[in-house]
Amino acid sequence: MKSYLLFLLQNSSRYEDLGEPRFEGALGVVMASMAIFMLFVLPSYWLWNGIWANYPPYLRAPYRQFLRELPFYRRLQPKQKKSFERKVQRFINQKQFISRSKGLRIDHRKKVLIAGTAIELTFGFKRFDFAHFDKILVYSNDYYSKISKRYHRGEVDLRGYIVLSWAAFEEGNANRSDGINLGIHELAHAVKLENKITNRNYRFISKPDYRMFYNAYKAFAATADEPGALLRSYGKTNIHEFFAVCCENFIERPQEFEDQMPKLYALMCKMLRMNPLRI
Ligand SMILES: [Zn+2]
Repeated sequence: MKSYLLFLLQNSSRYEDLGEPRFEGALGVVMASMAIFMLFVLPSYWLWNGIWANYPPYLRAPYRQFLRELPFYRRLQPKQKKSFERKVQRFINQKQFISRSKGLRIDHRKKVLIAGTAIELTFGFKRFDFAHFDKILVYSNDYYSKISKRYHRGEVDLRGYIVLSWAAFEEGNANRSDGINLGIHELAHAVKLENKITNRNYRFISKPDYRMFYNAYKAFAATADEPGALLRSYGKTNIHEFFAVCCENFIERPQEFEDQMPKLYALMCKMLRMNPLRI
């Protein structure tokens, strides 16, 4: 018995002698790895994600091919194209695109064309985040609104989302020189609302410019409807629709706009910080 206990003691002490340093060594490696992960890998990952979300250095390759569908983009100089692409990627990074119709997939093309339309309108700004609107809801076709009890092609909701019918969006893009474009129209509503919402783009339109624009709206609303007029009569509905209709023409047919309504065109250039004819 005594010898058996001695044997056990010897063995356990041998176990301790041999095993403990090995365990401590392994624990040390795990602790060091965790420290490296917490101190370097994780912050680098967060930093890169933050940079990518806010300052993407380029537009991801699968998106690039679809930008050619935008005439505004095609007219840009190579350096401006790079800037446009980065802004498109930032818009894609910051917004959540949500399909609202069964079977409708939000693919790269949809994302890049919606983002590209937003950037066309706001290319004159160093940074225009559409900060209040973080969700883009896309329906296949015109959709029924329970609030207004009628069918819509698009709308901008102050709760923070922009809604589009993809069929209407495509229809607007099919003819890029008729001054009718649902995508530009709805995004223009969002741009104008950003002017009123207290954030980065709050009051980007100065008070005197807004007064001039209001006067232009009043003058336009007082005219008789003319077939073939540059601005469609829907712009007479209210100042918000007037702004949206002006934006459709500003992007799609700036030359006609400048030729026919030079003062209003110059005001649009001032408000949107760019002249599409001289970019
Ligand atoms: Zn509208």
